Amino acid sequence: MAVTVFNDVRVFDGSGAPLFPAQVRVEGNRIVSVKSLDDAMPAQDGDTVFDCKGAVLMPGLVEAHAHLSWPSSVERFVPGMSLPPEELVLTTARNARILLDHGFTSAYSAGSLSKRVEVALVAQIESGGMPGPRLIASSIERTPPIASDEQALNPGEIDPHGTGPDAIRAFVRGCAEMGARSVKFLLSGEDALQPGASQQLLYTDEEARAAGEEAKASGVWLAAHAQAAEAVKMALRNGFRVLYHCTYADAEALDMLEAHRDEIFVAPAIGIIQATLDANPPPHFDMREMKRSAAEVRERQQKLIPELRKRGVRILPGGDYGFPFNPNGRNARDLQLFVELFGYTASEALHAATALGGQIMGLGDELGRIEPGYLADLLLVDGDPTADVSILQDKRRLAAIMKDGQFHKMPLHLVEHAVHA
Ligand SMILES: [Zn+2]
Repeated sequence: MAVTVFNDVRVFDGSGAPLFPAQVRVEGNRIVSVKSLDDAMPAQDGDTVFDCKGAVLMPGLVEAHAHLSWPSSVERFVPGMSLPPEELVLTTARNARILLDHGFTSAYSAGSLSKRVEVALVAQIESGGMPGPRLIASSIERTPPIASDEQALNPGEIDPHGTGPDAIRAFVRGCAEMGARSVKFLLSGEDALQPGASQQLLYTDEEARAAGEEAKASGVWLAAHAQAAEAVKMALRNGFRVLYHCTYADAEALDMLEAHRDEIFVAPAIGIIQATLDANPPPHFDMREMKRSAAEVRERQQKLIPELRKRGVRILPGGDYGFPFNPNGRNARDLQLFVELFGYTASEALHAATALGGQIMGLGDELGRIEPGYLADLLLVDGDPTADVSILQDKRRLAAIMKDGQFHKMPLHLVEHAVHA
């Protein structure tokens, strides 16, 4: 099996522990050894050896709130959010490659603009036909009925808008049968889209219970857009695993989040909030209400997130990238915002994006750390992200990107010894 050796690296192993000098060996798609420099193994014939000169080796990053089908990226600005179907498919594939280019070797989808594009994308990526992160695929985000959406469904098609427990069950089952692994519900509305909506519940308890039961039966995970305190509680009562935002969580919701901390993940999606505040739109595009809402959300989350962390809730970076003013590819900015707004150290933010990331991907004992036996999703960083996490936003600082033991970006300038048997 192909062996890759990273000599003379400083390792950030995902735990949050300080960097340590080491030699790391990868065989096939796994890390097989992490040895101190005194203990380093001599190269064997056929090994590909890189002399990394003290660069930092860390686990690949995990995006916990990905929208690969949302059009805008750091490579291409798209005004608005909708694309014709063919462009949507191609853009989604392109965004998958862009995330990987920026060090994100895994992504948990928070919903798609197309029913099946992410499932199809996963098949392409896993077959080696297309570059992209490991992806927990989702389908469209489920919202209640909207007046304009009256089109007839094709046989076997999933209905994203029907009401009542049976419609909910059918939707969840349909997503699972199609190959999605996570199903996202908008349990509450969103002030940024409609003032006051964050406090509105969009589902009944009966419907949320149906979602929870069917997800369990069908073997899929549930994710929730939950702003209102009652939406957070509804998610927790009904087995939702990933909770986004949680901005208005009250004392009871906090206690419930803590009680469920070993089963759930929270991603505040601070990236979109900061991007809204920073946006400088053209005069005809009125963002005043969105900015007002974002300022309130940021202020609340600055209290909420440290409190949840104190209670042992797993908080992950992941920030709704894909909007025109918050493009895909900028995802690592969330780590910087964790440091600047939530009181994380750089190492703590890195731990959240790697070790906790492995856990949200359902692979906590084999993804997100640099330890023997773990999957070889690795970044070789020119510079020390534990001193300044913002350097990860510059893809030129990523000297190497490896996913599943394969280089997406190989540090050719560091090859010391490559014998092809
Ligand atoms: Zn989102």
